[in-house]
Amino acid sequence: MTAPHTYITTTIPYVNARPHIGHALEIVQADVLARYRRQHGDRVRFQAGTDDNSLKNVLAAQAADEGVREFVDRNAEAFLALGPALSLTVDDVIRTSRDARHRPGVERFWQACAAAGDVYRKRYEGLYCTGCEQFYSPAELRAGRCSEHDTEPQRVAEENWFFRLSRYGGALRAAITSGELRVEPGGRRNEVLAFIDGGLEDFSVSRPAERAGGWGIPVPGDPSQVIYVWFDALCNYVSALGYGTGDDAYRQWWVGADRRIHLLGKGVLRFHAVYWPAMLLSARLPLPTDIFVHDYLTAGGRKISKSSGSGADPVALAAEYGPDAVRWWLLREVPRVGDADFTIERMIARADDELANGLGNLVNRVVAMIGKYRDGRVPGPQPVAVGGEDLAAAIRHADARIGAALEDFDFRQATVAVWAIADEANRFVNRVRPWELAKAERSGDAQAGRELDAVLSALLMACTALGVHLAPFLPDAAVRVTSQCTPRDGRLPDPAPVFRRLG
Ligand SMILES: [Zn+2]
Repeated sequence: MTAPHTYITTTIPYVNARPHIGHALEIVQADVLARYRRQHGDRVRFQAGTDDNSLKNVLAAQAADEGVREFVDRNAEAFLALGPALSLTVDDVIRTSRDARHRPGVERFWQACAAAGDVYRKRYEGLYCTGCEQFYSPAELRAGRCSEHDTEPQRVAEENWFFRLSRYGGALRAAITSGELRVEPGGRRNEVLAFIDGGLEDFSVSRPAERAGGWGIPVPGDPSQVIYVWFDALCNYVSALGYGTGDDAYRQWWVGADRRIHLLGKGVLRFHAVYWPAMLLSARLPLPTDIFVHDYLTAGGRKISKSSGSGADPVALAAEYGPDAVRWWLLREVPRVGDADFTIERMIARADDELANGLGNLVNRVVAMIGKYRDGRVPGPQPVAVGGEDLAAAIRHADARIGAALEDFDFRQATVAVWAIADEANRFVNRVRPWELAKAERSGDAQAGRELDAVLSALLMACTALGVHLAPFLPDAAVRVTSQCTPRDGRLPDPAPVFRRLG
């Protein structure tokens, strides 16, 4: 039997500015899933990238008085820097304007939809928000303005290619309600079903090449038009696997994968849970198995926008405070449903309280006590220490609890299971007071000595378990914890801080 194959993707952001903390959230969540599944024997491909072919990029470059190519390249580099800064295990990165795999994939996809009779030309007039790259009906606007950008959309009249979305409402509804295509959390699933039930209208999938400033992929057979950036961008999930270039990865990681998991923000739900699956149905390709939708972060109570310069630059934060602190805040404080507010103060408080004081201090104490009372030699297998039942249970159940939480894309709940080990271990230390057992042992109490062995053994087991279960969440810290708990030549190393205090 071959190991399960899991394909995990993040959305590809527009590169019209540098990344902010909201981008870090999605890619760190994806990294946790990828690491957890690899740790449990799955084969995983973790895919990320940048969306270069957007009109927004063209406009932002013009505003910065810079060439589009230079502008896009510079910002794309800043996004790629997230990988090393946050200790991400991205397997592959696609840049839609640069990658030789992308354009053939988009063209093949277009032709597959055309062969199914699902693209056609139509004269169209509508209200277009360039910020969203989307047409809106007057009913979708708030006082005539885009609710996402608070700008007045342009009236645009042009002849475009359309995709026959109206044909796929029934099939999409069936895929979602049967669970063939999971959309999580449930509130988002209901939102998608309500949108489908409202009636799906065909949508425009091309723009005049002239309006796009020549930027983008020409429509096959019609160079006067470029392919709509969303059609283009969504194809990245298969073009990166070589869908258009006959690459084997496509068969292995799309057609043959057990799970195809997309992570995305609530603002692009409709594109991923309606347009994209409909395009896949049209092209006769398998649907994703899971779509997980996260909410947004604010920074200091304010909406984060790429251009606001809100001080929440994840690369700079990781450089100053370390990737552990940034990852821990994102995973530990952001709820599965609902927005969360980022501040540096909160990130520091969380890291110092739980990582430096809670977890780091525990490991440090345990290694120091084994050094002091047992000369660094780990006591052999011991009966469960009296009063250590809750700790033993926290260790025993951690993996199943983490697995169940991650299956629900509940990252905060998953950290609860990890944290429970440290919390129970600290309680246990304070309850059994090993230093008193050591004192009694020194004054000739052999029973106290045996108890101390059992206590130290249980505590080291907890620290070792932390090293294992922390690995998907805080990979760098997990290495340090494991190193502290691993004897060399029969002895544990000298105690060294696992986390530095930030505050
Ligand atoms: Zn908009």
